[in-house]
Amino acid sequence: MARNLGSVCRLCRREGLKLFLKGERCYTDKCAIERRNYPPGAHGQARTRFSEYSIRLREKQKVKRIYGLLERQFARCFELAERMPGIAGENLLVLLERRLDNVVYRLGFASSLAQARQLVRHGHIEVDGRKVSVPSYLVKVNQMISVTEKSRSKKAVIEAIELAQRRGAPSWMTLEREQFRGVLKALPVRSDLTMPISEKLIVEHYSR
Ligand code: SF4
Repeated sequence: MARNLGSVCRLCRREGLKLFLKGERCYTDKCAIERRNYPPGAHGQARTRFSEYSIRLREKQKVKRIYGLLERQFARCFELAERMPGIAGENLLVLLERRLDNVVYRLGFASSLAQARQLVRHGHIEVDGRKVSVPSYLVKVNQMISVTEKSRSKKAVIEAIELAQRRGAPSWMTLEREQFRGVLKALPVRSDLTMPISEKLIVEHYSR
C-alpha cells in the first residue's frame, strides 16, 4: 500500500502545528516545530499570501495528515460523511476518530498513529475478542479494543503505554491499562475534539 516515505516532521512544519506523528520525540525539544517553526523548503521563510483556495486546501491537508490518510482514503471518508445524516464536517471528524488505528493510538497502545496502524495490520489488536487487521475498521459504541495476549509484552506497546499516561484516554473511551483494553463508550461530539480544525473549510474545499 502507498504511504508517505518522506520526513514526517516536514508535514508538521508545512501545517505550522504539531501533528504528533513521531511518538516520544514530539514531546521533547528535538521536535522540528520547536526548532524551526516555518514551512520547509528554500522559500519557507518567505512571506506568502494565501488564496481562499489554498486556505481550504491546507485545512484538508492538515486533517488528512493528522489521521495519516492518503488522498483517496480521505476523499472516501468525506463521501461517507456527506451521505450520513447531520453536518458533513462533524460526521467526517467522528468517522476519522472511529477508525481502529486511531482508537488504538488514543487508548495509548501505540506512541504514534503510524505505529498503531502497524499493530493493527500485524494482528496485535482484537475487537470484542476477535483479531481485526484492518486499520480503517470503524469501531462501534461499546466495542472492546484490546492488545492480544501474546503482544502485551512487546517493548513498543509497553513504552507507548508509559508515554500515553501523560496524555490520558479521551473522555469518550474507558481504558483499563493493566488489562491492555479499552471501550468506546460513546461517539465523540464536536466539543470533545480539541485539535485546531475548521471542518467547514474542508466541506467548502470539496464543494467547490
Ligand atoms: Fe511533528 Fe512530532 Fe516531528 Fe514535532 S517531532 S515536528 S510534533 S512529528
